[in-house]
Amino acid sequence: MMKNNSVKEIYRHIVSFFFPEYCPYCSSLIEPDDISCPHCGKSVLGQAVAIRRGVLGSRCVAPFAYEGKVRKAIVNFKFHEMSQYARPLAAVLAKTIEEEYPVDEIDLITYVPMRKWDQLNREYNQSELLAKELADTFSIPCAETLLKVKRTKKQHKLKFSERKKNLSGAFVLKDKEWLKGKTVLLIDDVMTSGITLSHCVKKLYSAKPYQVYCAVVASAAEHEKEERKHPVQEE
Ligand SMILES: [Zn+2]
Repeated sequence: MMKNNSVKEIYRHIVSFFFPEYCPYCSSLIEPDDISCPHCGKSVLGQAVAIRRGVLGSRCVAPFAYEGKVRKAIVNFKFHEMSQYARPLAAVLAKTIEEEYPVDEIDLITYVPMRKWDQLNREYNQSELLAKELADTFSIPCAETLLKVKRTKKQHKLKFSERKKNLSGAFVLKDKEWLKGKTVLLIDDVMTSGITLSHCVKKLYSAKPYQVYCAVVASAAEHEKEERKHPVQEE
């Protein structure tokens, strides 16, 4: 083994000792640069098929359906302080984005915001963490373009007809000039009814961007029955 590789290997072991990395899909320990354990590499990542959905004048892609181990990974990422899952989940999302969108044409990556008070309580916005990982991967700037200004009820606790009303007026544009003529990639963790993304896309389009693309880690649209049994904990 080359000397440089040995030094790199030792460094990786030291870092993983203090900050162990876990497979998002089964919580087993993984090597620092891996994005899953070997088993989930085959059974989860190997089974990922891009899901495409329409969102107003835009569209959304997701590498996963919101079910099983993916659902567990996202719930832990979002609600159980596993912010470190941003890196492996964003890595899978990046692959789908590369396959589905002209990445070279994207000027700006942004994300679905949380209300500042909610973010203080959770300590991070999971969609922002994903967006920042993607920005690093693609070397594209990441910016907060929207603000959530209204306290809303949990979407999953409402009837479909009430969800739209709940989010009405919830989001405002932070700065119109940033977006004019730009191709923007909007990131969220999960797409369920699509109402949250629709509200955000509508706001972004009011600033006259050239194009808005959306991408999420998982889509729950095809799993309405499952959602009733195990409600999606959507913001
Ligand atoms: Zn695993």
